Amino acid sequence: MGRILIENGTVISPSGRFRADVLIDGERIAALLDPGSRALLGLDPDRVIDATGRYVIPGGVDVHTHMQLPMGPTMSSDTFATGTVAAAWGGVTTIVDFASQQVGERVMDGLEARHAEAAGQCAVDYAFHQTIGGVDDESLASIRQLVEREGISSIKLFMAYPGSYYSDDGQILRAMQVAGELGALTMMHAENGLAIDVLRAQAIARGDTAPVFHGLTRPPELEGEATNRAVQLARVAGDAPLYIVHLSAAHALEEVARARHRGQNVFAETCPQYLWLSLEEHLSRPGVEGAAYVCSTPLRSHHDHHQRDLWTGLRNDDLAVVSTDHCPFCMKDQKDLGSDDFTAIPNGIGGVEHRLELMYQGVVAGEITLERWVETCCTTPARLFGMHPRKGEIVPGADADVVVWDPTSSTTIGLAGKHHMNMDHSAYEGFVVDGKVETVISRGEVVVERDQFVGRVGHGRFVERSLPAVLR
Ligand SMILES: [Zn+2]
Repeated sequence: MGRILIENGTVISPSGRFRADVLIDGERIAALLDPGSRALLGLDPDRVIDATGRYVIPGGVDVHTHMQLPMGPTMSSDTFATGTVAAAWGGVTTIVDFASQQVGERVMDGLEARHAEAAGQCAVDYAFHQTIGGVDDESLASIRQLVEREGISSIKLFMAYPGSYYSDDGQILRAMQVAGELGALTMMHAENGLAIDVLRAQAIARGDTAPVFHGLTRPPELEGEATNRAVQLARVAGDAPLYIVHLSAAHALEEVARARHRGQNVFAETCPQYLWLSLEEHLSRPGVEGAAYVCSTPLRSHHDHHQRDLWTGLRNDDLAVVSTDHCPFCMKDQKDLGSDDFTAIPNGIGGVEHRLELMYQGVVAGEITLERWVETCCTTPARLFGMHPRKGEIVPGADADVVVWDPTSSTTIGLAGKHHMNMDHSAYEGFVVDGKVETVISRGEVVVERDQFVGRVGHGRFVERSLPAVLR
């Protein structure tokens, strides 16, 4: 560590792009200087990084990851160590993962256990949301403690998964009232889990057991319905701030857009898999090949206009954030548990390493601007989750989390190319994308350069978050 000067690059912020040299002093960004200031000011930094022809962007903020998450008989395959090293490779310098609580458990016990798992194990900075799967007087009372003492300003509830994380409408309303009163954000997995469970049982009874039935039994209507219900409950809870996670269906986007048009505090994220993968091309593959693409919400049909609408939503801010919902599993001994029964397939796709790369393709394709790329992947996630201006933007005083991005190079994703997640396959195998993560700096330390990981597990610190800067 010391003083690093990133020279001759183009800084990208949500509000524009400009030539500037970025001076880092210790863990912080010290100044943005006119290009060529080094000689003029007689600066003598410890290190100079030449960013000629490069974009200089804030480190990525991925607010939805699941490292070493227990699921049924197995566990997501990235540990905090392997997952945050992969994140660093992808230009991600902050992740927000989840501590969890279910019926009969104490919230603070779950949080303490999660802290124990992550402490000293992360290569980049990390924070937690708190999942509340058992809404009762005690768990509701602990939300205040989370916000005021634990640096956790967001809770997550599920309208899916009856029998484990599911909350009924009354529980959701109560939790939203408490969170809203405190100014915390309620994150919602919005799918009608009770109806989905009926469709799943019917499919199995018919013998429709292939992976594609995972998607077909979670129709977009049931994402739209649950999203609308969450929106209305949040409204009744006094316009409690609401954040819809992993939005994949046009039906759900419509409800979010309607709520936002009314001026309600409703936000939503989508993930690269919903923009680039589909039910027909990926989830419909036979056996374990299709199982690899089982995630919830599911990949949607390309016969409908989901993907087109999601891109539109990203442009007009009805979709404010791109996260990954990184939840990796290997084919062997994990995804193959459900090769002949889709209900036994662990749910999740790994992608923490590839979000910036995949979303940059939206820039290349003319779907979003460079500024919007940075805004949805770095700045807004930091703002909505109480980490801005420390994270998410290159401004003096911010943590020195910086990515030097080479737009002239390209990246081949997959086992034969760039792949550092602990998975025996990649959902994006063979994707060749424009642009490349060249240098990654996390709190003033270079962690990736010259195609090498040069950081260390244990460098990452827990980020205590403030209340969300709720945007309209
Ligand atoms: Zn998730």
